[in-house]
Formats: sequence, C-alpha cells, structure tokens
Amino acid sequence: MSFDRQVQVFLEPGITCKNCGQCCHLLVNDEPSKIPCKHLLRQSDDTTRCNIYTNRLSTPLDSWNRCILRKDSEFDYEGCPYNTGDKPVYRTNEIEAKRIK
Ligand code: SF4
Ligand code: SF4
Repeated sequence: MSFDRQVQVFLEPGITCKNCGQCCHLLVNDEPSKIPCKHLLRQSDDTTRCNIYTNRLSTPLDSWNRCILRKDSEFDYEGCPYNTGDKPVYRTNEIEAKRIK
C-alpha cells in the first residue's frame, strides 16, 4: 500500500496555516510519525517552512510518501485551522506522534 503526504496549504480563503509542520511528518504504517519530511525546515521562531514549496505537489518524499494537498489528508492535526472534525487528530513533532482524538 502506498502512503501519501499532505502539504501546508489548503487553498481555502480566510484560513491561515500556522506553519507548525505537523502535517509534514511522514506516514509510517499508515499513521503520522515522528519523522519530518526531508524538505521541512524548522526556523528559529519554531515555525517551519518547505524548501521546495513551489514544486512540492506530488514530490516523492521516500519510498512510500508523496506530497499532497492538506485537504486530501486522511488526518487532522492538533490546533490546525484546516481540521475537518471528522478525521483522527494527531499531535506530531520530533519527540512524539500520537492520536489525541
Ligand atoms: S498542521 Fe495545519 S497549521 Fe500545521 S503546517 Fe499543517 S496545515 Fe499548517
Ligand atoms: S514537500 Fe514540503 S509541503 Fe510537502 S510534506 Fe515535505 S515539507 Fe511539507
């Protein structure tokens, strides 16, 4: 089974990404993991950015993960303004990756 990744843009007017980077962690065994995408850069203020942002969509990130739109993700993330309310909610960072709702 192949896994897919999501990106930091939902393309919905009026909503602003917090650049927390949670949705840019790789999926492992079909779940968000502690492993950040190799293109995710953490900045000094603890926000993140993508170093291939313009060309990110469909980029292979490893053997299983590919960059997709945030709206196409099967997951929601703690505090993310793009959460739908009907997907499992995860907290992901480099220390932990766990389902919180
Ligand atoms: S989880 Fe949400 S707020 Fe955080 S980077 Fe992804 S889209 Fe932006
Ligand atoms: S390529 Fe960029 S937008 Fe896509 S998952 Fe990686 S860091 Fe996030």
